[in-house]
Amino acid sequence: MESFNRNIPFFDYSATFSCNETDYLHILKDVLTRGAYIMQKDLQNFENNLANYVGVKHAIGTADGTMALMMSLLAIGIGKGSEVILPSHTFVATAAAVHHVGAKPVLADIWSDHLIDPDSVESLITSKTRAIIPVQLNGRTADMDRLISITDKYNILIIEDACQGLGALYKGKAAGSFGLAGAFSFYPSKTLGCFGDGGALVTDDDSVAEQVRLLRDHGRDRLGNVRCFGFNARLDNIQAAILNYKLKNYQEVVERRRAIARLYKERLGYVEQLNLPPGPDNDSDHFDVYQNYEIEAEDRDNLRDYLEKHGVGTLIQWGGKAIHQFRSLNLGEIHLPKTDNLFKKAMMLPIYPNLANSELDYICETIRNFYKKF
Ligand SMILES: *Cc1c(COP(=O)(O)O)cnc(C)c1O
Repeated sequence: MESFNRNIPFFDYSATFSCNETDYLHILKDVLTRGAYIMQKDLQNFENNLANYVGVKHAIGTADGTMALMMSLLAIGIGKGSEVILPSHTFVATAAAVHHVGAKPVLADIWSDHLIDPDSVESLITSKTRAIIPVQLNGRTADMDRLISITDKYNILIIEDACQGLGALYKGKAAGSFGLAGAFSFYPSKTLGCFGDGGALVTDDDSVAEQVRLLRDHGRDRLGNVRCFGFNARLDNIQAAILNYKLKNYQEVVERRRAIARLYKERLGYVEQLNLPPGPDNDSDHFDVYQNYEIEAEDRDNLRDYLEKHGVGTLIQWGGKAIHQFRSLNLGEIHLPKTDNLFKKAMMLPIYPNLANSELDYICETIRNFYKKF
């Protein structure tokens, strides 16, 4: 097997532009010629289309996913004295959003699919718990039935970090639409990525929507009256125009990601040293969009080295640490056995629409060869 001249990056940033270069240049020229930079029709169109796609009443473009989360917490009035439960296996941004509104992030353990464990959530509830932030990680939704029954029982809210979950469904309902609000990110490597930072908040609640519209634009209403202190946290109009274009063909992207996941499962499913994510056709409750293909691998570090030597890029999520493992955040001594265990074995394989089947074959064969050595 040829093992040189291969270069399969973990993610191919420049391909996100080159795959449709002509169309993107056309869109840029159109927006720039109109001088339509901030809060113009492109943003409005994208917000309408995104709301329709997710099946919610309001979508509000924001500077990024983190600000969408933070402003939703502010809009709901979660702050000092409140606790918010979230999984430790998430981007530090989820906890930072809670921290920056003055509330305390409380970290929960994960279940076998790497998403928040409802039993762990229930064990962490106190009289101060105001909300749970399930993270729809790797393009999959958490066990929303169990989480909703817990939040109903204790009268607390759900705010979704759906930054990795656009288009994911649980029993036919879209990620982002389960709680009082949901946050999406359009960071370039996200399933729907723009050419810079971008995010959105979705909600069915009119007052949360109104509040976030104020907060993202310096507290100003449509007439320019200042109604509260806000931020500059708008989604750039150029990014909105690009996103609006990409959203039209988004379902094809999702299907290609699911096809890649299907092939990984076929070709690596029987390798006993690996534990793969649930397959796309495994369970009718979940429709996953595979933001990431996060596997558990025996002898992980050597496998990663071997793949790198053979030209295959891989990544460990969050730089290899869950949030409770970052000592610099001073969150105290927290033990989350399943998360700790996962981070000894977790790694992610390339998964993006323009990954060719021949590249996928090569990745799988290289992995099988690695384990054959033993
Ligand atoms: C990407 C991401 C975010 C933050 O998104 P930004 O747009 O980069 O602020 C938050 N949570 C999770 C789980 C993410 O993957």
